[in-house]
Amino acid sequence: MTASGDTHIEIERRKTNLDSFDADGEGFTIRPQSFDDYPGQRQVCDNLKVYIEAARMRQRMLDHTLLHGPPGLGKTTLAGIIAREMGGTLRMTSGPVLDKAANLMGVLAGLEEGTVLFIDEIHRMPAHVEEILYKAMEDQRLDILVGQGPSARTVEMSLPNFTLIGATTRAGALSRPLRERFGIVEHLSYYEPEDLCSIVVRSASVLGVTMDDSAAMELARRSRGTPRIANHILRRVIDHATVEGAFPVSMQTVERALERRGIDKAGLDQKDREFMRIIAERYDGGPVGLDAIAAAMNEERSTLEDVYEPYLIYRGFLARTPRGRSLTREGHGHLS
Ligand code: ADP
Repeated sequence: MTASGDTHIEIERRKTNLDSFDADGEGFTIRPQSFDDYPGQRQVCDNLKVYIEAARMRQRMLDHTLLHGPPGLGKTTLAGIIAREMGGTLRMTSGPVLDKAANLMGVLAGLEEGTVLFIDEIHRMPAHVEEILYKAMEDQRLDILVGQGPSARTVEMSLPNFTLIGATTRAGALSRPLRERFGIVEHLSYYEPEDLCSIVVRSASVLGVTMDDSAAMELARRSRGTPRIANHILRRVIDHATVEGAFPVSMQTVERALERRGIDKAGLDQKDREFMRIIAERYDGGPVGLDAIAAAMNEERSTLEDVYEPYLIYRGFLARTPRGRSLTREGHGHLS
């Protein structure tokens, strides 16, 4: 078996059972299992509930669905909820793992009736692999090449009913033919502090910890609008509270823990500030190209595009112009 085949199986093993899969692998299931436990993204959830209900009433599979938005906002979690609501098995894989046609064919050939197939980072599939998906999505068919050389021939295999859920941080990076094959396209945006606060309170309760309301709200405000970050910081805050023997978790404990992690009042971390400082100090506030910033930060351009930049733009600290990135007045104000 090839190395990529091994990786593929490993990812499948780790992620197929979402009930026991957690971001930091501590075994607690803080990942929501139903829409009721999934605060925020109201419009997206309301839409999906209608589409799921309609599909159930018509005894059809849910249309293929594309979820896009920054990392950590709940795309994978939603895929799990959809599969549960539809009563289907969830199979999970990702674009980088599907780097060869044979890998995707193997996944498709193994689908069972009613499976929800989740492909994370779907924009990272090579074009020749992606093309296999077109027929599978549209006609539920798969062409398999049998034999080699002159005697090679194509055998058409029909696939069971399935729903593909694609997730991507960048809808723009998806080829048009692929994007057009998704009947449902939903965008996940950063969470409001109130919704993140509900998530923090629920996660704390699952982890068996009590927390002051003001402490939960402060943590929520400083989590970059992202549930994954909120849950991550929560665990470190709990570490502080445990060592200090200070429960319920107080505002002071949250502030101390955040300060130690270099997270400021606006919820920006050291990397966010470095991003902004490079533009301010080396490029006189911009505009400057993203590649120059990436080189100065020693980071991949894609990391800046997917992780740092969207939140800084969302908060109004950064502007994307045709000539590059510029700091806004708020951005300069935050640094001073
Ligand atoms: P993505 O696939 O968009 O990168 P995930 O679905 O893996 O994000 O979510 C990251 C973490 O945040 C998960 O551990 C999940 O428990 C939590 N999470 C995401 N969205 C929500 C939500 N709406 N409510 C509660 N927890 C959430």
